[in-house]
Amino acid sequence: MIVDLISLEKSVLDFDYSFLPESIDLEGEEAKLKNTVKVQGKLTKGIVQITVSGEIFAEIEIECTRCLQPIEQKLHVPFRTEFITAENYTAAKEAELQANDLDAAVFEGDKIDLTELVREQILLNLPEQIFCKEDCRGLCDQCSANRNLIDCNCNNKEIDPRWAALKNLK
Ligand SMILES: [Zn+2]
Ligand SMILES: [Zn+2]
Repeated sequence: MIVDLISLEKSVLDFDYSFLPESIDLEGEEAKLKNTVKVQGKLTKGIVQITVSGEIFAEIEIECTRCLQPIEQKLHVPFRTEFITAENYTAAKEAELQANDLDAAVFEGDKIDLTELVREQILLNLPEQIFCKEDCRGLCDQCSANRNLIDCNCNNKEIDPRWAALKNLK
């Protein structure tokens, strides 16, 4: 989804777009999109910068950090990005924009690629750690069995002290 800034007549553009999951490439990431990604927001054209803000709603499938089983997860990402044209960037910096304005993306040309913006925001907001359940037992480090499903007995001799403590509670 490309917004052409030249043909933009109004200084504020409200948008409400849906992206097909295959139109957003999460590359080699361990997450994939399950459903249409919805993006609502507005684009405000200023003198030296363009502000794009809004919310992204996505459904992703991501691997459990411990046992690598797929988990479905809803993602809600509020975002605000400033775009500054290269020619204005130095001037804008000199004008000492506020701290959060300084992570503005510099762009050249007259178009903003919203698909790319959405892709970046999703990647930035993927959970670093996620568990299929609080007490996921993960994979056996010896035989790789999913220890939620199978008791492989590899670690029979050395019981993890945390599990031992739990046993005593019962
Ligand atoms: Zn798990
Ligand atoms: Zn094992």
